[in-house]
Amino acid sequence: MQMPPASKPEPRLRLRVSPVAESRLRSGHPWLFSDSVREQNREGRTGELAVVYDRKDRFLAIGLYDPDSPIRLRVLHAGSPVQITPDWWAARIRESRLRREGLFDTRTTGHRWIHGESDGWPGLVLDRYDTTLVLKVYSGVWLPLLAGLIPQLVAEWAPERLVLRLSRNLQGAAAAAGFQDGGVLRGAAPPGPVVFLETGIAFEADVVRGQKTGFFLDQRENRRWVESVSAGRRVLNAFSFSGGFSLYAARGGAASVTDLDISSHALESAARNFRLNEGLAAVRACRHDSVQADAFEWLAAGERAGFDLVVLDPPSLAKRESERAGAIQAYRRLARLGWQRVRPGGILAAASCSAHVRMEEFVEATLQGVRDAGGGGEAREVHRAGHPPDHPATFPEALYLKCLALSRRG
Ligand code: SAH
Repeated sequence: MQMPPASKPEPRLRLRVSPVAESRLRSGHPWLFSDSVREQNREGRTGELAVVYDRKDRFLAIGLYDPDSPIRLRVLHAGSPVQITPDWWAARIRESRLRREGLFDTRTTGHRWIHGESDGWPGLVLDRYDTTLVLKVYSGVWLPLLAGLIPQLVAEWAPERLVLRLSRNLQGAAAAAGFQDGGVLRGAAPPGPVVFLETGIAFEADVVRGQKTGFFLDQRENRRWVESVSAGRRVLNAFSFSGGFSLYAARGGAASVTDLDISSHALESAARNFRLNEGLAAVRACRHDSVQADAFEWLAAGERAGFDLVVLDPPSLAKRESERAGAIQAYRRLARLGWQRVRPGGILAAASCSAHVRMEEFVEATLQGVRDAGGGGEAREVHRAGHPPDHPATFPEALYLKCLALSRRG
């Protein structure tokens, strides 16, 4: 009897790339674009490991292959050759944890543990909300790896629960792999929003359905800055979401805080967050109002001045490169409208989370908006910040967060 031929193990997926891509990978850039691939030994599957070799046939990088994305390879490691084994993953998890050692005391139980490519995890985020971990996946390359990774993440952090969030474009592929957005991967489903602390202020996060992973953890340092200049001020928090900046302003002694958001869910969450912090005398003493409106329209329709501190933190206004010019115009317009609401002696704090708009462009747009507003006030820069340390950015495309504050004289 003849034996069927043993199926041969598939050869490792190997790529050769353009010289420009080679030097980008060598300099640590985590993306290889499809149009830079010159040669490959066979077709690849989503999430499969692929090795890039240079012109002299030396190992250059290893990463996760994606046949469906213009980002064809998401680099896990570049430099000397490595084997990607469960131990390698365990070490990578540990590195992300150690990178944040000493950043937070027990008054901050909500922060980021893993921040995508700049942490060595291209397209993947892990956030902590007290004893709940939220894993957010932005690229399909992770779907085939999840079953192996989940026990390793759980072994490192021993969370009470682990919740999975998926970017919208992945939800079909994920369903086929047995995963769903908001699915609870370990532990019991949360009975409602999860409560955590940020520098001693309690916040709720809807980890199952909320935006991102439930809260904008990246604004912590800018919120602290706002707290430090809030005493006695009337504050407008435009695009308030769940009141992150508002609670800090209240703790900093603001006389009043007005939340402005288009979403009633966001405003209700902010109101609950104020109630959560009634134990703080300054929060109790601060008057809190909510306005549900389109911020552009509301700001344009109102009278001039009225606030001593205006915070503008809109959602990303440029989701893709083609929207960049329009976004810059929108930041300029927003700065004009916001500045018109700032009294002499007041402050405008404007933020942007659009990766396609660079810091210098944002600063320029904001300053132009202030000039457009007229009114004779002089603007002086009092705060400028990029990324907080638990959200590192190691390459240009990763630099999305920007904040600029200007004080108004006269
Ligand atoms: N500053 C917040 C995060 C803002 S997220 C924080 O520190 O947590 C952006 C918010 O803008 C969301 O809550 C969204 O509902 C709101 N939003 C989006 N478009 C809007 C618009 N045109 N007018 C007012 N709010 C808007």
